[in-house]
This record gives sequence, structure tokens and C-alpha cells, in this order.
Amino acid sequence: MRGFAERATVEAALDWLGGQIAPLPGESIPLDEASGRVLAADVVSSVNVPSFTRGMMDGYAVRADDTQGASPYNPLSLRIIGQCLPGNAFSGTLETGQTVRMMTGAPLPTGADAVLPVEQTEVGEAADTVRVQGEVSPGKHVGTPGEDIAAQRIVLEQGRVLRPQDVGVLASIGVACVDVVRRPRVRILVTGDELLPAGSAPTGYRIADANGPMLSALAARDGGAPRYPEIVPDQPDAILEALFDDVDIVLVSGGSSVGQEDHLPTLLAEHGELAIHGIAMRPSSPAGMGRLGDRLVFLLPGNPVSCLCAYDFFAGRAVRGLAGRNVDWPYRRVKDRLARKLVSMVGRVDYARVKQTDSGIEPLAISGASMLSSTTRADGFVVIPADSEGYAGGSEVDVYLYD
Ligand code: AMP
Ligand code: MG
Repeated sequence: MRGFAERATVEAALDWLGGQIAPLPGESIPLDEASGRVLAADVVSSVNVPSFTRGMMDGYAVRADDTQGASPYNPLSLRIIGQCLPGNAFSGTLETGQTVRMMTGAPLPTGADAVLPVEQTEVGEAADTVRVQGEVSPGKHVGTPGEDIAAQRIVLEQGRVLRPQDVGVLASIGVACVDVVRRPRVRILVTGDELLPAGSAPTGYRIADANGPMLSALAARDGGAPRYPEIVPDQPDAILEALFDDVDIVLVSGGSSVGQEDHLPTLLAEHGELAIHGIAMRPSSPAGMGRLGDRLVFLLPGNPVSCLCAYDFFAGRAVRGLAGRNVDWPYRRVKDRLARKLVSMVGRVDYARVKQTDSGIEPLAISGASMLSSTTRADGFVVIPADSEGYAGGSEVDVYLYD
């Protein structure tokens, strides 16, 4: 075994990574698949919404002048000359003293300039009359063309993660397909002869693969399209073949360090570029990253907490960045006081799992890198920078919450 001669700083690793991340090109997809995807270009409306002048209340289309002076004590009478339902225009023209019964969303008849809500009316003496009990001013309860969305304006900007209501707005301007950033294809390459496929009970000296399902969920959360086939044995040939999968990002779990079964660093250095190997952080110090052809490759330590931490620090940024999303952590950050001291070593960055309790932020007592359950018991984590020996009890820290 060789051991790490020296470790890169977290900043150096992030620096290298920063130069490798750019959103993938766009692809056109149907609107009903667009929610959650990232817009590759601004969307400009080619139409006005609404495209016609419409009534905004159930009631009567009127000439506003005809209602002047009307009140419950002084009702005025108008003659109903027709009705107007959504989707159909009234064909005639409204003259003074006339009204058209109308429903919300119907086009305003020619000659009318306001809508009198039905609540301000009473049925008239004759069947074709209505008693007006209130005044409306011109334009009242009338929607004008483009007041919702104006033609030739940007409706949604490039980079937007589409919400369900955005999809609704796109549909309202007649869009059928939308250009979104292509999802990064993420190959999850799990190595380890001791591993049983996820879903099997651990037996004998073998353990179940925990990292594969976790990485798959993380990559999907960050906008990637994960591919997660069978576990790859600790054999250089098999690993190499899997590394050459036709994807944008390879997340390798295990075999990233300097042990005799740790083939990844050598393979990547020989066939591509091993830009960073060994990082001054805890956990995850045996992590690495580099390139193989067009692929970004992340070597994530097999210890599940290290694997999660290295994903959080590095790989997740790449998935989000290629997906066109904000590269920063998708975790909420809150400030809170430490219930106890949190120690660290100068010279490395620490990723400390913590719990939020009534007495403040509690560092988890059992938090070795192999204890994945420390991340499920934790509510989040605190990052202790390399130049710090940690924090005294009672100090205020930034906590990143997993939820
Ligand atoms: P490695 O990085 O391959 O040296 O593995 C470090 C430790 O993590 C060993 O105890 C492995 O058994 C364990 N480990 C490796 N891969 C996984 C995995 N996919 N799920 C759970 N534990 C793993
Ligand atoms: Mg291994």
C-alpha cells in the first residue's frame, strides 16, 4: 500500500471542479414532462393573454354611462338583447339602454365598456329587462388583451427550474414543447467484492450495497438521470469497461483509496486524468476526481458517510451544474448555538453530523465514516473550515439541514 503523499485542499478541489462545470445543451421535450426541468432559453410569448377583451365577472355587459346614478333606491332599467358565453362572441352591437347577459371569460360585446356584476342587479318587471342597482365606471370588470401576458415579452427566463404553474403559463401561450437543459446521464459504478446487491439481506461476511441506492437518489434529486446497473467486481478490466459507459458523469463508489483493491486512481490516471486524489477533509479524505474523455469522474470512498460527504462537497455540484441548476447545496441553512463544543483539526475541513435539540446543536457522538445511520439520525451538518480548531459550546454556527 502506498499512502497519500499529500492531500489537496477542499478549495483546490472546488477550483478544479469549477472549471469543469457548464450546463449541458438543451433538448426539446413535451410540456407534460417539463415540470422540474431547467429552461435552456428564455421563453418569449408570441401571443397576448387574453387575446381579446373579456368580462371578468358574471353579470351584464353595459355602457358604463347607462349605470350612472343607479342605486338600490334608484334602480335603472336596461333591456337585455342577448347573452354571451365563454368561447362565443355576441354578434350585435350594444346601444344606449341595452345590456347583454354575460359570463366570466366571455368576450365583451361591441359597444359595451364595463361589466355590471349580477350582485348589483335585480330581475326586471319584464322578462327582457334587468334592474341596475349600482354604478360601474368604464373598464370595470373588463380584462384587456395582453394584461396577463403581453406578446413579445419574456415569460420565463433561461435557468428557471420549471414549477407546475410555469407549465400552466407555457400552455396558456400555446407552447407544446419546451427547450430544457439535457439531464446529465449519471453512471453509478459501485465496486466491492464484499457487496451484495441492494435489496439482499447482509449474510456472512458480506454487506449490502448502501451507496448505490443513495447515490442514485442524490443524482435524481439534483436533476441527473441515474443509471445504476449491477455491482462491478474489484477487477481492473471490469471497472475500466464500466468507466467507459456513455454518460456525462461517473460516480464511483469504493476503491478510491490507496489499498491493494483500490484500482480506480490508477485506472483513471492511466486512461484519463486524475486531477485530484486525496483531499484534506474528514470524512472523505480518500476521494478523488478527474476526467475520462467527455466524462467527469468522481471517486467516492466506499464508507457510506464518506461517500455521502464527497457527493455533497463535489459530485453534487457537478450534477446540478451540468443540469443547469444552482450548484450550491440544496440544503436550507440556519444559524443555531452549539450545545457542546465541536472539535476539529487545523489543516482539514470537517463535515460534522449534528442534531437540532432544545438545548441547541448536538454533534452526534457516534459519527465514524462507516456509520451511515449517523446521517439519518442527524438533522444536518456543520462544516468546520480547515483553519479552525472547532467551536466552543455556545457558539453560533451555520447548520445545513438535510430536509
Ligand atoms: P472502500 O472505499 O472500497 O475501501 O470501502 C471502504 C468501506 O466501505 C469498506 O468497509 C466497505 O465494505 C464499505 N463499502 C464499500 N462500498 C460500499 C457500499 N456500496 N455500501 C456500503 N458499504 C460499502
Ligand atoms: Mg472496496
